[in-house]
Amino acid sequence: MSTATIRVPDRLLLGSGPSPVPQRILDALALPTIGHLDPAFSALMDDVAAGLRKAFRTENRVALPVSGTGSAGMESMVANLVRPGDRVICGVHGLFGERMADELRRHGAAVVRVEAEWGRAIPTEALLEAASAPFAAMFVVHAETSTGVAQPLDGLADACRTHDALLLVDCVTSLTGHPLDLDASGVDAAFSGTQKCLNAPPGLAPMTLGERALPRVRDGEVPSWYFDLSLVLGYWLKEADAPRAYHHTAPINLVYALAEALAIVHEEGLEARWARHARAHDALKDALAVLGLERLAPEGEQLSSLLAVRLPDGVEDAQVRVPLLTEDGIEISGGLGPLAGRIWRIGVMGEGARVEPQERLVRALAARLGGDETGAVDALHAGWSA
Ligand SMILES: *Cc1c(COP(=O)(O)O)cnc(C)c1O
Repeated sequence: MSTATIRVPDRLLLGSGPSPVPQRILDALALPTIGHLDPAFSALMDDVAAGLRKAFRTENRVALPVSGTGSAGMESMVANLVRPGDRVICGVHGLFGERMADELRRHGAAVVRVEAEWGRAIPTEALLEAASAPFAAMFVVHAETSTGVAQPLDGLADACRTHDALLLVDCVTSLTGHPLDLDASGVDAAFSGTQKCLNAPPGLAPMTLGERALPRVRDGEVPSWYFDLSLVLGYWLKEADAPRAYHHTAPINLVYALAEALAIVHEEGLEARWARHARAHDALKDALAVLGLERLAPEGEQLSSLLAVRLPDGVEDAQVRVPLLTEDGIEISGGLGPLAGRIWRIGVMGEGARVEPQERLVRALAARLGGDETGAVDALHAGWSA
């Protein structure tokens, strides 16, 4: 039992994040805080970097958690790798591509938007067409959490290499929950967040940069002191026997949580974890279809770790989603932008990608929608044993 005086309600987090934090990770968070230059902490930082490389499937020397949420990873990527006037191709097929376009514009990039309807992937040909003229970088959102769509990365790296441009990817919701192999896809820099498929609390943005990206960090001054990787790496990147140099105080206990989260991921194995997320997604999709909730993303474009479903005619978003949270204790997310009030977004992330929490959700939704509870639960179990 906690000795804290504050109280928070019990919640099953099946929205777009944060995702359910398992007790092992909460226990890691509650370990005593030690100093950011303590050799014991330094050893843990090495473990975290190694665990991140393995999760991202990369040999990159640079792999670290940026201090801040997923968006801090985005900001850090742009501040370090994009210069004013750079022509940057930005895929926009949902809220997070839109956020990146805004971030790029604020850093003075000449943004070339390549768009798709919210709920669809961007055709690779459209990105390649934009890449026929010289450009400095191409950015895509691998896992659009606003729509539940996975963006294919095939063919993009070659187009970038032709113009000596960088391939930049937002993997916030795909990391460890949807197949992702940064080195095989030729990605030069990527960032993620801890509160999606890693099941740690929000507050860190795992990030990695390859050797093609590193020189851009070092040539010219980065316009942000906090996110300047040439300074941050003096602390995070252990080169030979140089001691780690203080830049800012690492969020020590969040790093514990991330270390424990990565241990859990690698105990399960990345491929087994991807397969479990895909199975959980399919099973839940079938169960919700029994209740009249059809998936937004077409087959083949779906993201394992987030299931966005259309609301049936006559169902009002808040009339279901609010009591689901306040009475049933289950959080799911509503739609954003053009999809507000039209979809629900259900996280299939880490511990959320298990049959027990999904059954709780399916039963609660069936009761609130007046649907076939038995049929939906049967479909869920059939999906899990398929
Ligand atoms: C959640 C998310 C972010 C932003 O992360 P925050 O932790 O909210 O700052 C960025 N991109 C995608 C795809 C996300 O799902």
